[in-house]
Amino acid sequence: MLTRCWLIGIIVLALASAHGQPGPPTVRFGIDLRRDRPQVERQPLTLSTDRIDVYGGDPDLAERVSSHVEVAIATLPPRFANPSMRFSVRIGPPDDGDCPVRGFASMFVGQPSIGLLVDPEWSDAELQRIVAHEVGHVYHAAARAAVDPPSGDAILNEGLATWLAAPSRLADLGFSSFESAIRSSMERGIYFGMDEEPTPDLSTFASSAEECVALRDALYTQRAGFVGFLIQRFGMEAVIEASRQPLELTFMGREGWRASRLDYEAEFGAPLAQLEREWLAGFATE
Ligand SMILES: [Zn+2]
Repeated sequence: MLTRCWLIGIIVLALASAHGQPGPPTVRFGIDLRRDRPQVERQPLTLSTDRIDVYGGDPDLAERVSSHVEVAIATLPPRFANPSMRFSVRIGPPDDGDCPVRGFASMFVGQPSIGLLVDPEWSDAELQRIVAHEVGHVYHAAARAAVDPPSGDAILNEGLATWLAAPSRLADLGFSSFESAIRSSMERGIYFGMDEEPTPDLSTFASSAEECVALRDALYTQRAGFVGFLIQRFGMEAVIEASRQPLELTFMGREGWRASRLDYEAEFGAPLAQLEREWLAGFATE
C-alpha cells in the first residue's frame, strides 16, 4: 500500500507560502516534487550494516540489496566519497501503475533514504542497476550539500544519478557506453528533446507498463549521456553547482503547478538547445 500524503502536504505548504503575493504565485522548494513518488509503508528493520538500515523485504533480499549498495558505492568517483554517510533503504511491493516506479530517493529533512518497489521477476543485474541509480541520487544530494534534496532540474538530477550508476546500468542494458545506448534508441526513433517537458508523462507514449519503463530507461540514459558531455566540457564542479538551484513552482491556474527550469545559459554560457546541438554533433564525429 502506497501513500502520497507528504506530497499533498507539500502542495498545502505551497499554497500557504504563495498566499498574498502579486501575480502568479511562485514558491521555492528545497525538495524534489515528483508526481508519482510513492512512499513505502513503515516496515520492520530487516538488516543493519555500517552503511544502511534495510526495512521490509526478507533477509535474503535485504542481503542482496546491501551488497548492491556496496558495489554501487565502490564505483562512485572519489569526488562523491562520503564514508560516514548512513541511509535507510525501504523495500516495498512492486508498483502496478501505468509506468511503475521501481525506486526513488529522498533527502527529506536531511535524512537520506532509498525506496525500492521490488518485483521478484527482476534479475540480479536489474536490481543492481536500480539500486545504483538511487545510490547515485543520495550521493549527488550529499555532494551538492547546499540544498537539502534535489534541485528543480530534472535533466541534471536524473542524468547525474544515472551517470554515477554507469557500470551497473550499462552492464544490465548491454551497452559499452551511454552513447552507444542512445544511438540504439535513436535508431528505433526514441529521442527526447532536451528543451521539452522535463518530466513527461511517459505512459501516454507507451502501450504497456513494460514499454513505459523502457522509455524511462531511454530518457534517463539520454540524460546521463548529456550530463557526461557537460562534465567533460565544464567539469564536475560546474555541474554540481548548477544542480544546486532549488525547485520553484509557479501556479498556472487550471494547468496546475509549473516547475522551474534551470537557466543553462547562466550556468554554462549557452542555452540548453545549443548545448544539446553541440553534444549531438559530437556523436557524428565519434
Ligand atoms: Zn532517479
